[in-house]
Amino acid sequence: MNQTEVEQYALDNLDNVTGYLKIPSISAQNKGINETNEWLIKQFTDLGAAKVEKWTDQGGNPVIYAEFKGKSNKTVLFYNHYDVQPPEPLDEWRTKPFEPTIIDDKMFARGVCDDKGELMSRLTIVKYFNEHGGIPVNLKFFVEGEEEIGSPDVDNYVKAHADQLKADVCVWKGGGKDENDNFEIVCGAKGVVSFNLHVKTAAADLHSSLASYADNAAWRLVQALSSLRTPDNRIAVDGFYDDIQKLTPAEEKATQSMDFDAEKVKENYGLTRPFIYDDPREELVNGTTMTINGLNAGYTGEGVKTIIPKEATAKLDCRLAPNQQPKKIAKLISDQLVKNGFDDVKVDYLLGEDAARSDLEDPFIQLNVKVANDVYTSEKVRLIPNMPGGGPMKQFQDSVHVPIVMVGIHYAGSHPHSPNENIRLSDYKQGTYFLAKLLNDYK
Ligand SMILES: [Zn+2]
Repeated sequence: MNQTEVEQYALDNLDNVTGYLKIPSISAQNKGINETNEWLIKQFTDLGAAKVEKWTDQGGNPVIYAEFKGKSNKTVLFYNHYDVQPPEPLDEWRTKPFEPTIIDDKMFARGVCDDKGELMSRLTIVKYFNEHGGIPVNLKFFVEGEEEIGSPDVDNYVKAHADQLKADVCVWKGGGKDENDNFEIVCGAKGVVSFNLHVKTAAADLHSSLASYADNAAWRLVQALSSLRTPDNRIAVDGFYDDIQKLTPAEEKATQSMDFDAEKVKENYGLTRPFIYDDPREELVNGTTMTINGLNAGYTGEGVKTIIPKEATAKLDCRLAPNQQPKKIAKLISDQLVKNGFDDVKVDYLLGEDAARSDLEDPFIQLNVKVANDVYTSEKVRLIPNMPGGGPMKQFQDSVHVPIVMVGIHYAGSHPHSPNENIRLSDYKQGTYFLAKLLNDYK
């Protein structure tokens, strides 16, 4: 395969796929879903898919599924999502969010990075192979429409269609380049558990003079929260760390070779406090967290209001390492609160998602490294055991039993979920060549 030729092909074919970016497919507002489904079905059909289906059997926004026959018997499954985040605040955009606009090397549009641009690249690769001797491997596309609202139905769709989704390997959405323009091959995602803590101490807010004898829900809550973390920022919940597995030598090596520029990070985020752990690299890959997302109690408006709040709520999440179970973690926290004397502070479980990590020594992961070394040069390639954020990967791993890798077209300035979401066309064409070569060499 000729790199210059494939890269030029990706740019020359942009106009065929940018229609995808013009549809405001906003799952949170239930907008543009049908129109996007129709656009995808037409694209897959026009590209000669052996099968194109719109799955609605598990409810929620439909999943669009397509299959292409390749020249070998190997099968690659792609995971993408067609929904995007709402574009607001509109006045902070340089361009109109649903009118893809190229300025210098960058294309601006809502969803161009997360994650329509990637599917555009993947569709272009199919077209390229169609015109250049055929697709080297069988391809399956699973394109869901609820990723930006937490993929509530993916689990059911994957279970119900596990036979059809059978593949040898899976290429996920997302991925790309870090702050130093290193190309990242990401092999998993952390899990998460999200919950509220709630406490009530009176039937109504009370006059604060009664604090001479009456307890206070806000104090009760912060004392309970405080009992869950030690002064050196470890989580003080019995059994919390028990299920975390030690990194394998390959994972340890990959983790230590990740870039982490402490000064740059502090500046980027305007951090005013020192890091809470010594080794952020290991924490990002295999650590676990307990984060207070927000606190709600009493009166916080203007002026004075001397009350004892009747109730207090905190919203928290824990990012989980592979093998930690969301429901079990929530139970451990609830048990610990009882042991600490806070049996009146209730844990309300909101959502959970398991972590997933593929075997870094799997031949397909190693092929990704080899092809990336060719395309991006070996000094600029980083193997990441898992990202610090989440995604519904475990559902695929459990039902389809395949190694999963994230390799994409983003860069550190892509601003997903923010105004001025963009990709660099240089990354788009390079990422398109990378994936085409990966499929070609995998056959
Ligand atoms: Zn997103």
